Parts: sequence; C-alpha cells; structure tokens
Amino acid sequence: MDKTPKSVIRDEIRSLAAYHVPDSRGLIKLDAMENPFGLPADLRAQIAEVASEARLNRYPDPGAAKLKARLREVMTIPEGMELLLGNGSDELIQILALAVNRHAAVLLGVEPSFVMFRMVAASTGIRYVGVPLTPEFGLDGQRLQAAAREYQPALTFIAYPNNPTGNLFDAEAIRALIEASPGLVVVDEAYHAFAGRSFLPELTRYSNLLVMRTLSKLGLAGLRLGMLIGRAEWLSELDKLRLPYNVNVLTQQIAACVLQRSDILDAQAALIRDERARVLVGLQSLPGVRAFPSDANFILFRVTMADTVFAGLRKRGVLIKNLNGSHPSLTDCLRVTVGTAEENERFLSALQQCLLQTA
Ligand code: PMP
Repeated sequence: MDKTPKSVIRDEIRSLAAYHVPDSRGLIKLDAMENPFGLPADLRAQIAEVASEARLNRYPDPGAAKLKARLREVMTIPEGMELLLGNGSDELIQILALAVNRHAAVLLGVEPSFVMFRMVAASTGIRYVGVPLTPEFGLDGQRLQAAAREYQPALTFIAYPNNPTGNLFDAEAIRALIEASPGLVVVDEAYHAFAGRSFLPELTRYSNLLVMRTLSKLGLAGLRLGMLIGRAEWLSELDKLRLPYNVNVLTQQIAACVLQRSDILDAQAALIRDERARVLVGLQSLPGVRAFPSDANFILFRVTMADTVFAGLRKRGVLIKNLNGSHPSLTDCLRVTVGTAEENERFLSALQQCLLQTA
C-alpha cells in the first residue's frame, strides 16, 4: 500500500507553499513590521522577576483573566464587549475560518492584503474570494458590496490600515460593506498604534463586526498575543475552537507586566510615526522611487527592477520585503519597515547606492 504524503496529506495542503521567513542573521531587519526598540532596563529587570517566579510546572490560566483585565485598562473597549485571546492574531484568523467553514462558505478579502487571510482559507478548505483594490490601493466600494451580495461571505477580513499597502481605507466604504455582509466582518487593526483610527467604537452599532488587534507591532512580537474584541454571542462560539491553553504562562504574565508600562510602548510608537515621516520624505526625494503614504509602521514603494534593488540592499546588509511578483498591482514594489533613526539612514543610503547602480 502507498504510504507517501501524496496518498495521505490533503491535496490543497500539498499544493500550499509554507509561509517563508528569510534568514536575517547579520542584517538590519526591516522586513517584518517589528518594533526596532528594546525595553528599558528597569522593565526588563521586572520581566526577569516575573519569569523567574512563573509556575512553569502548571498549565496557564485558560481564561487569562489577569491579562484580559490589564488589556481592558489600556484599550478603550466599549462596554459590554468581550475579549478572545490568540497565540498571535494569526491563530484567531484560523479559528474564525474554522468556525464559519460550512459547505460552500466563502471568506472574502481584498487584494492585495495580508497573505494569511488567503493562506488560512486554503489550509482550512474554505473558499476564498479576493476583490481587487483600486489602482491607488483604495477600497472599490461598489465592487465589494456587489461581491458581498453575490458570494454572501460568512467571513470578511479588512486590514485597517492595510498590509502591504499601509493605507487606511475609507471608513464609510467599510461601514457599507459591514451592512451589505450577511456574515462576520473582522476589521484587523494590527497597525492601530500608528494610525490612531479604530472601529472599536462601532462594535455597539454593528452586530456582525469584530475588531482584531495584536501586540506584535507594538514591541512584543516575540510573545505572540493577538485579540479579538466583540460581542459575547460571537466570541463564546469561537472560544469553543480555541485550544485550552493557547496563550502560555510566560506570555500571559510578561504581557500583563509590560502593559502596566504601556506609556513606554506608546512613546515608541510615536517615535516610529516620526521616523515614518522622515523615511517617506527620504524615499520621495530619490529619483525613480514612488513611495505610498502610510498609516502603519512600514512604507510601500515602487522602483524599477525591484528584484535587483532588493538583492542590492541585502548585499549591503539591509533586509526588507520584496513584493514583486506577489500580486499584479505590486509589480516592482518593495516594503520597508520603519526602524530606528540609524537603521533608516542606513537603509536610505544603501537604497540610493543601489539605485545609482541600476540606473
Ligand atoms: N494582521 C495583519 C494585517 C498583519 O500584517 C499581521 C502580521 N504581519 C498580522 C495580522 C499577524 O499578527 P500576529 O503577529 O499577531 O500573528
């Protein structure tokens, strides 16, 4: 009998490409929207104490009550709304897709957007429909509403701001989509700290809206903590799919500890916003570069010969993200995460050298 993966593993899994994380050793890492700053020494000492006292022989609190209470203190969660925590928001995307995946159910997204929406659709077997953004990366409201009517999506993801384009979509177009959708609409606010606009206050208005956030872009990517905020009637159903101890002891305790000093994370986000403005001006001053304005902690830009520029940057010790070939509207596009002032300087000067060589 044939005992190979081909005979056992589902076809759609075998045809998937694994999420690729490039080797960044020795490089200035501006590819993954991480916060470039560490935490101050006094806070790190506190974390060390928390970690040394954590009871690692015990399972974590399955409901993460303390951490949820702390999150409520630092986020403006409307009254009556609940929280569901995930091992990163990636896990929450997967839980959502699994929960709605009835026969012939559709997951709706826009293109280009965060690839995990499409990847999770593929791995969970739910049908994915992607509606193209306009050439300037805005929402095509008419087309989206028509898609909502035609496909009756059980689940729709809108990243606000969007990755990889960096922009905030028109809020009215999102509201119209929520109203036209028969299913859940999840507004993914991973980059909220750099945008300052939110759909959290709209949760009371729309019964089919959930808002997703993450600590990853705020400076705690290594902890893996994502959250869904919304009505208990939705979250209690989704909670049944959450594996019991998905948020580990150290994540719960360290996140709660760091969030006591959320002023530090806020100050770092403000620095990143300032740096973003400087990087944008730097990019726009380079001939042959078209940089798109951003409300996130990264900037999308177009060059000629993106592959060559990407390789040239890497050779000069700077790792960014090459989006060329990932979607027709991202031809010759690159995405750079905003780093420290020094990293950004090094990126801009390396880019200038690459452009001179490819000119
Ligand atoms: N949503 C968006 C829009 C993202 O860009 C990302 C990370 N690239 C995520 C969610 C995933 O975040 P997490 O680290 O919480 O899994």
